[in-house]
Amino acid sequence: MSAQEKYAATSAGQLGVQLATWAEHRFNLPDPDLPDLSYQNDPERAALEARQYWGIGERPIGNMIGFLESKGVRVLSLSEDTANVNAFSFWRDGKPYIFLNNFKTAESSIFDSAHELGHLLLHCKGDLRGDRLLEREADGFAGAFLMPANDVRARVDRPVTSDIIITVKKKWRVSAFALLHRLWRMKIVSTEHHYRSLCIDLSRRGYRSGEPVGVDREISTVWKQVFSSLWNEKITKDDVAKELNIPIDELEGLVANMTASGGRPLTRTLSVV
Ligand SMILES: [Zn+2]
Repeated sequence: MSAQEKYAATSAGQLGVQLATWAEHRFNLPDPDLPDLSYQNDPERAALEARQYWGIGERPIGNMIGFLESKGVRVLSLSEDTANVNAFSFWRDGKPYIFLNNFKTAESSIFDSAHELGHLLLHCKGDLRGDRLLEREADGFAGAFLMPANDVRARVDRPVTSDIIITVKKKWRVSAFALLHRLWRMKIVSTEHHYRSLCIDLSRRGYRSGEPVGVDREISTVWKQVFSSLWNEKITKDDVAKELNIPIDELEGLVANMTASGGRPLTRTLSVV
């Protein structure tokens, strides 16, 4: 991350808090409802405990942004200035925040949001080890949270082929490589030879650089509702930017990719499907 990108990300963080605080005073946004799992250092167990806490069993999460928002996480987007920053998260005044880069594939953003959820739950006490261990924990949490072990075992036919991966990955809305990695971790793909040949085949089919067969991008329920009800009162984003004293393009950057629907409308966004 360059100094300029770091600056842009920090300023997005501050403006995001400002915007969310403003919205909280006018709308009834969901209160934070997150378990404290900071004692847990096994990401696999942490993911299970988080699912138990929320009572969502081992079903796929239908819509990750909608799910996070329903648990009181404020989800905002990062602008183009921060193309090298995947995502970040923090707690401020008892509220959890996640910022996502939406210039990547929908699957990458979904995985990033689960990775950041892992940081919020596991590292919320401000653990500043700041090393690769934390990143590995958050990745392990994301894989296990999005793709619960029993569900994966039940749905993935063996022997695993890339066709199977490409078909079944849609269930959990993850990338082909994220599912392959999960299968390798769970030893469902158990030999190095098999793992490598799947890597080569998926790369050849374009899944290293993108997601040729992918899912729709997720959008925010909260921000969409906030801005459409403001619109009904004839209050525009310009008015909001003026009131908050922030440039309109920065405000747009925080919510634009979160409110513009690229695919079919989301109808069940605030519940787990
Ligand atoms: Zn991380």
